[in-house]
Amino acid sequence: MGVGEVLAATSVNSKPKTQNPKPPQLVPRLLDWFSTHARDLPWRLTRDPYAIWVSEIMLQQTQVKTVIPFWERWLRELPTIQAAANAPSAKIHKLWEGLGYYTRVRNLQKAAQLIVAQHGGKFPEKYDDILALPGIGRYTAGAIGSIAFNQAVPILDGNVIRVLTRLFGIAENPKAKATNARLWELAGELVQNSKLKTHNSQPCCSHLNQSLMELGALVCTPRNPQCELCPVQKLCVAFKTGRTEELPNLGKREAATARQFMAFVIERDGKFLVRQRPAGVVNAQLWEFPNVEVSGKKPDAQEIFIELLGFAPLKLQPLVTVKHSITRYRITLTAFAVALPTTPKQAGGTWKTPAQMQRLAFTAAHKKLASAAAKSILSDR
Ligand code: SF4
Repeated sequence: MGVGEVLAATSVNSKPKTQNPKPPQLVPRLLDWFSTHARDLPWRLTRDPYAIWVSEIMLQQTQVKTVIPFWERWLRELPTIQAAANAPSAKIHKLWEGLGYYTRVRNLQKAAQLIVAQHGGKFPEKYDDILALPGIGRYTAGAIGSIAFNQAVPILDGNVIRVLTRLFGIAENPKAKATNARLWELAGELVQNSKLKTHNSQPCCSHLNQSLMELGALVCTPRNPQCELCPVQKLCVAFKTGRTEELPNLGKREAATARQFMAFVIERDGKFLVRQRPAGVVNAQLWEFPNVEVSGKKPDAQEIFIELLGFAPLKLQPLVTVKHSITRYRITLTAFAVALPTTPKQAGGTWKTPAQMQRLAFTAAHKKLASAAAKSILSDR
């Protein structure tokens, strides 16, 4: 009994029996659909594992349209694994500035260095060697193995989970260990089956995996899936049983937590006080203005400034408020422009002009403060 049949028996117990689709039915439909509907994405024009790897790392947590210019710039500036391995840390952070989740870029460089040291600078082909690289988990190893090398290795990300749980009518939470294992197995059956196909001389394992991701991104979307456009609608258990909106069953979402920060944009003689975040913390090595997390309904900016900087400001003026979200945190950053009586001896940081700040990698929120700071200088003149 295949995995699909087991799931049919366990998941659709109280409803009339609905036949689960079989991989040989699904695979040709998915490959046909992908050959005519795949988006023209720049990393789809190459089989270079380095370029595909960079795209996959950038696409974690980030939307396709945001990634495209970052990916193009990265490959222009660092066109080879050796170039990525040898680039200064400041450069890789600057190239990643705005993408967030900076551990990704540090791991990417560590992995590039490891490829140079252990694989002679050539991206490894063996799945286990790919999986052993820093920052590469099962999904990314499967994506690189299948897309770059056309290997029959499965992938399972949010898009693929959504497509598979709906196609096979899987009502259990896909994060549950046993269900997750079944989903990997199903993804494996599909890609293994694609290996048996010859489809317009296309790399079938690569296209099958990408078809699942693409279907999830374009048609089988989280809300209002466009089932009328779906190539596998006739086989889809969720569609046939009217459960497309119920699946996947992701359980209750963790409530968002509000957090407030206060930042100070301190200017003296056309230069601003900025600090680099230390290693080992979130957003390590990125630059920012002096800031601190605050609580209470109306935190006193003057008091907080003195506590943070150790001296009193001449004047504090509201500059800008930036709201953003990181994982489950909804963050409000309130920034003040600060005039100083004299340049303090010990301010803890370094003084930079707007032009110098442009060459540094800032966190996304503090980059907005940097441009507000540069504008405030211009408007004063
Ligand atoms: S029929 Fe609808 S729910 Fe089923 S896979 Fe296609 S888009 Fe998703």
